[in-house]
Amino acid sequence: MADPKRIYLSPPHMTGEEMAYVEEAFKTNWVAPLGPHVEAFEREVADKVGVKHALALSSGTAGIHLGLKFLGVGSGDLVLCSSLTFAATANPIVYLGATPVFIDSDPDTWNISIPALARAVSWCLSSGIRPKAVIAVDLYGQSADYDEILRICGKHGIYVLEDAAEALGANYKGRMCGSLGNLGVLSFNGNKIITTGGGGMLLSDDEEAIETARFWSTQARDKAPWYQHSQVGYNYRMSNVLAGIGRAQLKALDDRVAARRRVFERYRDGLSGLEGISFMPEAPYGRSNRWLTVILIDPSSGRTPLMVMDALAEKDIETRPLWKPMHLQPVFEGCRYFPHEDGFSVSDHLFQVGLCLPSGSSLTEEDQERVISAVKEIWMG
Ligand SMILES: *Cc1c(COP(=O)(O)O)cnc(C)c1O
Repeated sequence: MADPKRIYLSPPHMTGEEMAYVEEAFKTNWVAPLGPHVEAFEREVADKVGVKHALALSSGTAGIHLGLKFLGVGSGDLVLCSSLTFAATANPIVYLGATPVFIDSDPDTWNISIPALARAVSWCLSSGIRPKAVIAVDLYGQSADYDEILRICGKHGIYVLEDAAEALGANYKGRMCGSLGNLGVLSFNGNKIITTGGGGMLLSDDEEAIETARFWSTQARDKAPWYQHSQVGYNYRMSNVLAGIGRAQLKALDDRVAARRRVFERYRDGLSGLEGISFMPEAPYGRSNRWLTVILIDPSSGRTPLMVMDALAEKDIETRPLWKPMHLQPVFEGCRYFPHEDGFSVSDHLFQVGLCLPSGSSLTEEDQERVISAVKEIWMG
């Protein structure tokens, strides 16, 4: 990274073993979007997460796209989707010609609100449309409440896609994130808990889902001696070189989760005495990977997240507001939105008062002390 003095939000954290895998790819000339590292990485991630099948892809977004396509999402369909998330969760709904319906967050977990989801499903059904799928996000590394989500969706034959892009290594009632819906998606973007420099994975126990997505991800080539296509395909596979980086990274996953959780604990110990600061809660049903530590700044403190962000930026410390909810995005203007309670939107509130702190697993105690002291100074001044 460019500036050694700057403390970044969530930078890549190499183990030192990645180059050996990359060199192996070069030595064997598997420098292509297929090869032994890709196959091994798929097997290793599937085993770690506890699913039967996995497909390594060029991004998490590609995984959501192919997953929704497999669930039959197409033109004119409705897909229910967490609002408090990154745009990559929702964009593939639109790629497929379907319309998103956004769902608010639960105040205790910040993940998809069960009452709002139930109201949205009822509204769709009473309008004569059965939603094709629900995309639930495991926000900032914390699982959504899948027993409740699957109970509502199971009643009406609605599929669940788990966007676990931020939640690899976290669990729900002892089961790993990525394995909790009909399909799961991971991301290995540079800012995620482990990285391939860019990549993603689609996970499922359903072999047909993964094999169909595999076919689409490699340009949908029919079994023929020439290039023959009876469907439109995509070029979405992960490179063998990058899969090698992922294999080395995956070995360190448990350490990375432990490190991010320690980062959270040090912030909590260092900052919770300050007036008006509170932290993202951890749901009792699971264990978060604490991908990012998020603080809430009560407006009664006289400070806003943007004021704090600017003051920290002057000290070379990178922070970010929470994801701006999808129902507030200009690109999704006009989409229907179901708040947690009539007249109270949890995600609007969290967006107004939340700030993500530097949370990388490579953050040193000294650097974290620098962040904590800088925040304290803002509170003192
Ligand atoms: C990062 C992220 C994605 C997208 O993953 P890419 O690999 O960057 O395409 C999707 N959803 C969420 C919640 C994310 O944080």
